[in-house]
Amino acid sequence: MTLPELSPQHAGFATRQLHAGERPDSGITPRVAPIYLTAGFVLEDFDQATDLFSTGDGYSYTRVANPTTDTVEHKVAELEGGAEALFVGSGQAAVAITLLGLLEAGQHVVSASQIYEGTRGLFLDNLTRYGIETDFVEDANNPAAWEALIRPETRALFAESIPNPRNEVLDIEAVAAVAHAHGIPLIIDSTLATPYLVRPLEHGADIVIHSASKFFAGHGAVLGGVIVDNGLFDVNSTLFPHLVNPTRTGGPSFADRVGGRARITYLREVMALRFGPTLSPINAFLIGQGIETLSLRVERQSANALGVARWLEQQPEVHSVDYSGLESNAYHELAKRYLPNGQGSVFAFTLKGGTDAARAFINALGVITHMTHLGDVRSLVLHLATTSHNQRTAEQLEAAGILPGSIRLSIGIEDLPDLIADLDRGLAAVRALTV
Ligand SMILES: *Cc1c(COP(=O)(O)O)cnc(C)c1O
Repeated sequence: MTLPELSPQHAGFATRQLHAGERPDSGITPRVAPIYLTAGFVLEDFDQATDLFSTGDGYSYTRVANPTTDTVEHKVAELEGGAEALFVGSGQAAVAITLLGLLEAGQHVVSASQIYEGTRGLFLDNLTRYGIETDFVEDANNPAAWEALIRPETRALFAESIPNPRNEVLDIEAVAAVAHAHGIPLIIDSTLATPYLVRPLEHGADIVIHSASKFFAGHGAVLGGVIVDNGLFDVNSTLFPHLVNPTRTGGPSFADRVGGRARITYLREVMALRFGPTLSPINAFLIGQGIETLSLRVERQSANALGVARWLEQQPEVHSVDYSGLESNAYHELAKRYLPNGQGSVFAFTLKGGTDAARAFINALGVITHMTHLGDVRSLVLHLATTSHNQRTAEQLEAAGILPGSIRLSIGIEDLPDLIADLDRGLAAVRALTV
């Protein structure tokens, strides 16, 4: 018995997050896709092995493909509206594999400056050693600023849909237009948005990346990363010879073999296979379990975040709140356009009292957990300048709007009054400093 196929055009997001990507085998039919915890798969006979190694269709070894991971890849591709998804062991691995798979020595990336610190470090410390340079755009919503930094060697633009930590919503369509005028892909790290809030491929992005450790899992138990490609690689492009030229052994090029899916196939068959950041099938299973409740969590988290942001904005100890759901926020119009279902739950706010106030505030919290993570069902808090952003100079921090009193929140699914009571305890500790 097999379950009937789901027709995506007739199903809503919540239905698809449960049913998409499931392909039960005939015979016995477990309702939940099982964990295939195995390094490899038995080759049926001599001829099947020959076929498998020439076509790549089928399962041989978990670093190449695994049915549990496949199920979750199909689910994510479907939810993002992409052609194909590829899971790897962490979000950082997804970013690294994507960039190393597109760029080579002597080439160049233009990135938004407000991005995850791990990605910024990858650009500045690692890719530079391989001869790949990055320039950073200060105002990511100004197309002319991107245009001005593009060189003949530029092979990718990179940005986050909701940048960490200040929730400055990206005008994806404006940046995609710049990328496409140069025939290069726009890569969007959409970790903080999730496909429930915005699907960047629908706005012209070419590749979407997520740290699945965050909202996709939601439970905070595992790490994972995923790359989703729109499958629209231009097979006539001259900018990516490794995708359009014959392979090292004289076989057909990726473009000849899989057309518009050349990029993601190269990432799967060459990058993930050779560098080897394989996701464990157990982690794939746990991420898949998380995704089944993604919309419910993100809806609740966004509503809670708006409640918290509105409350913080009223407090005398608070200097500013960076949340695009607030009418007072400079990104509110973009949020209405790109994030009508909610503006996410990761944002920063700044205490007037600087580092001392931040210390007293964070140490007084009881419900909100102090840790460097986000997208969890639990609410989390982090002081930016002394932890995640401690590699930046004072000038760089100020330019990024991160002040000594700036604190990042990742709001969970708790009861809003309990969160506000906890934050109020934090502010009481700040007030106690000044009396
Ligand atoms: C956490 C995070 C990453 C890195 O993901 P890991 O799973 O921790 O490796 C990348 N981008 C963003 C926006 C993140 O929040």
